[in-house]
Amino acid sequence: MKRAFWNPWHGCHKCSPGCLNCFVYYLDKKRNIDSSIVNKSKTNFNLPLKKDRYGNFKISSNTEVATCFTSDFFIEEADSYRMEAWKIIKERPDVNFLICTKRIERFYNCIPSDWNDGYPNVIIAVTCENQQKVLERLPILLSIKACKKYILASPLLEEIDLAPFLSSGKIDMVSVAGESYENARECNFDWIIKIKRDCLKYNVKFDFHQTGSNFVMNNKKYKIRHSREYSQARKAMKYLNSLK
Ligand code: SF4
Repeated sequence: MKRAFWNPWHGCHKCSPGCLNCFVYYLDKKRNIDSSIVNKSKTNFNLPLKKDRYGNFKISSNTEVATCFTSDFFIEEADSYRMEAWKIIKERPDVNFLICTKRIERFYNCIPSDWNDGYPNVIIAVTCENQQKVLERLPILLSIKACKKYILASPLLEEIDLAPFLSSGKIDMVSVAGESYENARECNFDWIIKIKRDCLKYNVKFDFHQTGSNFVMNNKKYKIRHSREYSQARKAMKYLNSLK
């Protein structure tokens, strides 16, 4: 499936251990932008409805649109204009919108009145970087109504136990990644293997997104700048793919 990004607003507040080295703050700092100020996009708020000069949508059908990756879709500052974004999402049933959040507790304050069992083109993904966040956020994810639900174990900071949630049959995919950029914390391959085994056990789709910059495998530490380019990352991928 094709991928696209749509950031209808930008800026966020750090609210969780996984936010410590947030890439939004890292990249904004280089451009002297204050990431803590949340602003509605002046140019791209309606990106999914924009058309090219031939009258075709710039974001074509069957694209997965990573939504609000430079903020949090459920952040308080967006309460006054989030409904406009939902209307845009509803106007593109041919596109899947992936909404990732660390604020799933705000879900029922933020959905449109016609949500019912969830819009068919919306995936709700919850980030769980450590066991405490697993226990806080995943019971809420299981309880909400949504057509597709993902868990993002990213940046994975310690061993976590997803089995009680995967066994529910309500989770469609788990995506795992280590932390990148400056001061990245270590990610241990053993933690990832455990998650993959649990996904296999409960027949949940698994995606190993990236090793992160400081990767520990077989008790050895590796510095990895571009995870898919380096041999240790390739070995890790190969091993995960071999698990049955
Ligand atoms: S919620 Fe996401 S975007 Fe917001 S500060 Fe944390 S990591 Fe960054």
